[in-house]
Amino acid sequence: MQENIGKYPHRRYNILTGEWVLVSPHRTQRPWQGKQENALQKHGVEYDPDCYLCPTNIRASGEKNPKYESTYVFVNDFAALMPNTEAFSFDKGLLKAEGEQGICKVVCFSPNHSLALPDMELKDIEKVITVWKKEYEELSSLKDINHIQIFENKGAIMGCSNPHPHGQIWAQRSIPTEVLKKTKTQKAYYVANDRSLLSSYLDQELELNERIVSINETFVSLVPFWAVWPFEVMIVPKRHMSHVGQMTDREKSDFAEQIKIVTQKYDRLFDTSFPYSAGIHQSPTDSVHEEWHWHMPFYPPLLRSATVKKFMVGYEMFGMPQRDITPEIAAGRLKAL
Ligand SMILES: [Zn+2]
Repeated sequence: MQENIGKYPHRRYNILTGEWVLVSPHRTQRPWQGKQENALQKHGVEYDPDCYLCPTNIRASGEKNPKYESTYVFVNDFAALMPNTEAFSFDKGLLKAEGEQGICKVVCFSPNHSLALPDMELKDIEKVITVWKKEYEELSSLKDINHIQIFENKGAIMGCSNPHPHGQIWAQRSIPTEVLKKTKTQKAYYVANDRSLLSSYLDQELELNERIVSINETFVSLVPFWAVWPFEVMIVPKRHMSHVGQMTDREKSDFAEQIKIVTQKYDRLFDTSFPYSAGIHQSPTDSVHEEWHWHMPFYPPLLRSATVKKFMVGYEMFGMPQRDITPEIAAGRLKAL
């Protein structure tokens, strides 16, 4: 029964990862006496002399940033992966390890220290998307690079060390776990149905219209049926494309519009600069992956105000993710903003 999933404990299946989430809608009434955090602050100054990402400043590595005027990309001074790592493997009994090669880049979205994606003009968000396309294409042509992860960590609550608007790109030899899961599910569906999994999913969501947050000619933003984070959103292109390199100019501006709409709704939700981790999941670059339909999930930690965060602890560390507010209620609140 459709109405049961709005009332009673149940688990929902994530078609992309093959995993489950526990949903407990009846718990949204329980009293909260947990942690109260100070409201997050918007950052006011356009230029901060102490910021290592602002134009003309000197970074910890001693390098000086150029006087950039739109976007600026550089190799991370404290990279988690390095291109010249030796290709070694360690295999001893039950202990196994491999050397991992890669490149980590930082993408400054704007020279203006005070802006975030929701505050930027559409044409400037489009420039960021152009950088993502170019980096995906360039990095994918490199030897030993089989996957490219584009992402943004926004807000101190997400462990972001600098408020200057920026994201990261980690390109590496191996294909990471989350991407392997999504490759497997999408491939199985594509082989069986000759259609991408997300094309069929979008058809169903558009028909039901229960979890759609925003829509334009070529993109849909929705709260996935299997969302784990309270206000999780996924931006999906309507057209089946494996990676961002395949976007047309029209799609690029529609994508920019959806990023702006979703992040503006987020800021309005709790009247704060809304923190999140967002990233683009797309085709690995080891070979052609026609099964892949790229998408951009946003994972925000806030639950009921600018100061109350959802924690992934206890049962969630030992069992599986759990949420109280249903994805339908979350989508309704975001849509109404
Ligand atoms: Zn800055």
